[in-house]
Amino acid sequence: MGQIKLEKVTKAFGNTQVIPPLDLEIEDGEFVVFVGPSGCGKSTLLRLIAGLEDVTSGDIVIDGTNATALPPARRRLAMVFQSYALYPHMSVKKNIAFPLKMAKMPEDKIEEKVKNAAHILNLTDYLERRPGQLSGGQRQRVAIGRAIVREPAAFLFDEPLSNLDAALRVNMRLEISELHQSLKTTMIYVTHDQVEAMTMADKIVVLRAGNIEQVGSPLDLYRSPNNLFVAGFIGSPK
Ligand code: ADP
Ligand code: MG
Repeated sequence: MGQIKLEKVTKAFGNTQVIPPLDLEIEDGEFVVFVGPSGCGKSTLLRLIAGLEDVTSGDIVIDGTNATALPPARRRLAMVFQSYALYPHMSVKKNIAFPLKMAKMPEDKIEEKVKNAAHILNLTDYLERRPGQLSGGQRQRVAIGRAIVREPAAFLFDEPLSNLDAALRVNMRLEISELHQSLKTTMIYVTHDQVEAMTMADKIVVLRAGNIEQVGSPLDLYRSPNNLFVAGFIGSPK
């Protein structure tokens, strides 16, 4: 399961309201992209869903349970960070196994889950290496592996490809799309890149200054943008 509902969610930092009252429904298994210019509130929204920031008001409901007051660890969501956040002194295997060790899962089960994740991510031959001995794309895959083993209700990505060069970015874009097809788990993906949004999303959420300007499939947005902002944003490939 991975249904996420935002009900009249707002967020203010001090006197500045970054997210005005916002409603959004994400269905189980959807690949949803939050897109919009820098500073429009994409990361804040993702962090609210993850529980890394507290909402100022409103509710976040995950699979029918009000999760607004739950700490991040109890939301069953996996955030994949842009900066990888891998442990440099640990092997790939240990990095991927880390959340399971913390949860005190039996060793043989950990072994099996790490093996499966490594297989899905083409990391089987790299399990004994350290992050420093990997390419940027491989490091990104290890970060995703660490999320996969927890079998989350949804994966949350915050501009995961922005540290990668253009060719690798295209590759990883395909890999993440394939991962979604094989896992069929809800994914929320933040980007300021229109091409990523248009090529990866089932549903695009266009944000501008914390407001949702439009929600729809890539084709909906392309064919019938609600306003000039959406038209300009979606219609101007980089
Ligand atoms: P995006 O990810 O779309 O670039 P952010 O969600 O990071 O945008 O930021 C949205 C707005 O909220 C920006 O104006 C940013 O300066 C502000 N903001 C984000 N985090 C904080 C914070 N911890 N304290 C104060 N202001 C913040
Ligand atoms: Mg951001």
